[in-house]
Amino acid sequence: MLPFKLVYSEKYFLPIGEHIFRADKFRLIRERLLQQGVAEDADFVVPQTATEADVLLVHSPLYVKKLMEGSLSAREELEMEIPYSPQVVDAFMLHTGGSILAAEHALEDSVCINMGGGFHHAFPEHGEGFCMINDFAVAIRALQKRGKILRAMTVDCDVHQGNGTAVIFGSPRPKPNTLPSGPAATSGARQRTTMTEGSSNDVFTISLHQENNYPFIKPPSSIDVNLPDGCGDAEYLAWLDNALSSGLRQFEPQLICYVAGADPYMDDQLGGLSLSIAGLKQRDELVFRVARARDIPVMVTYAGGYANHIEDTVTIHSNTVVAAAEVYRTASSRTSR
Ligand SMILES: [Zn+2]
Repeated sequence: MLPFKLVYSEKYFLPIGEHIFRADKFRLIRERLLQQGVAEDADFVVPQTATEADVLLVHSPLYVKKLMEGSLSAREELEMEIPYSPQVVDAFMLHTGGSILAAEHALEDSVCINMGGGFHHAFPEHGEGFCMINDFAVAIRALQKRGKILRAMTVDCDVHQGNGTAVIFGSPRPKPNTLPSGPAATSGARQRTTMTEGSSNDVFTISLHQENNYPFIKPPSSIDVNLPDGCGDAEYLAWLDNALSSGLRQFEPQLICYVAGADPYMDDQLGGLSLSIAGLKQRDELVFRVARARDIPVMVTYAGGYANHIEDTVTIHSNTVVAAAEVYRTASSRTSR
């Protein structure tokens, strides 16, 4: 039995037909975890669909109306890059309910994994890049509204920049601050910190991503780490460590939303970084160890993963559960208080 819950529904499947986004991966991850004895049936909890009121905490009434009525324009549908149907909307609403449930469980158990979600390219007024509803942004706003948290941090490790999230929690006054002395300053990676000086921002956003990749316009996160093509394990992990330390020096979150994209993988069809499967597991461990040492609850979403072999995507996502089990099972807890 795991020391935390896994949020999953068989209705996470997105009926989008033949697509590079393999919507059957959610089921395959669950099967893998059960087959390998990492998890058992009792570890899984089934989410309820998010309410329209919760979604409206992030998305505009007009956009939500279009989703519910099926009145997106052809251009809006094209931008989403997945076919519209009421069933697809239902699935996104369920992934969003899953992120809300995962955030609630994380506050109780220190960590919780939503085995879906991570739709970070969804903006308040439109969707794009396979993302219709920004599930974890909704989860943050829902928990704030219910008085469960005041401040949250997003740590987005998908290979693509979290543009929707940056806009949802952003509009900071830009104050670029390049840190040239970082661990990989000589190899081309750049970290840009945009301080939210004087603003009332209660959500701090971190994104580590490949610079030369979608989205080509990258609205500023609180910290953006623009990684060079081909960036490998050691360099990536050093930058992640650097970004987490820097973020946690500036901001004290009561919840971390970790977007554990599988697409920084070296054999991903939509990514140009070169992380190994072992390196991606170390990435997960690093996030969990840092959060645990500071007693900050973590909710996890899965996000992208388009490996040439679906088994690799499944392994990478399954390893996030293994990494959490290893970190949160160890006895040396509560080091920071
Ligand atoms: Zn991605």
